[in-house]
Amino acid sequence: MKKESAGSHFTGREKSENNGFKFELKDEIGVFRVVEGDNQLSINLENSSGQQFKVNSLLLPGYEFVSKEILQRQGEEVDEDRETYVRHGKKQVVIDTVELRKEEWQYLLSILHEIGHLARQKEKSKDVKRLDQLTEKQPAIWQDPELFAEMLKLQSEDERDSWAFAIRQLRKMAREFNPELKKVFPDLKSFRDYVDGNLVSGYKKPYREIINSGLTGEYRKELLDALEDLYTRGD
Ligand SMILES: [Zn+2]
Repeated sequence: MKKESAGSHFTGREKSENNGFKFELKDEIGVFRVVEGDNQLSINLENSSGQQFKVNSLLLPGYEFVSKEILQRQGEEVDEDRETYVRHGKKQVVIDTVELRKEEWQYLLSILHEIGHLARQKEKSKDVKRLDQLTEKQPAIWQDPELFAEMLKLQSEDERDSWAFAIRQLRKMAREFNPELKKVFPDLKSFRDYVDGNLVSGYKKPYREIINSGLTGEYRKELLDALEDLYTRGD
């Protein structure tokens, strides 16, 4: 069998399924496999007894995993501010294959984090509905200091809650499917470092929104300070 090269290269022409993205990691933790087929990704885990866990089964009905490369090939827009994210209108969770190769097992937590966003959407709590409402009002909302601040606060809560969901889900999988998964984040500090790093990168998008908002002066500074607080301080 042909050995896969480290990056996945797309030439723009149609590729057959076997030439699509493939990531396979086999080590003492188990097997972590991400395979492209039919313009979507299948994410599968395997434990030492050969038992499979289909991560796709955690998605909401109708949702699929895609990569940025798949989107680009289809001429769809890619959000460069974000590494891994949900496209709600399209029912897609976008996987960053570069991050996946870099972070390997730890990237699983980022995938579960996006599933956390979906779980919150499904619950449709008051806060989630409000956040959706405010998000839809962009960019007009940028001119309204109070509403803008409210949106940023709800966004930050959405992030933190989805990380908490991801950590609970990974622990559940370690209990019920593969105890070796505990090695991915051996202690609380390693969880925290990973989440904090991602919160900081999640901050890029709202930061850009403020910069692009046209707001100036003291209020803009206040908002940027508040944003930094929301995204960098642990709770
Ligand atoms: Zn998030």
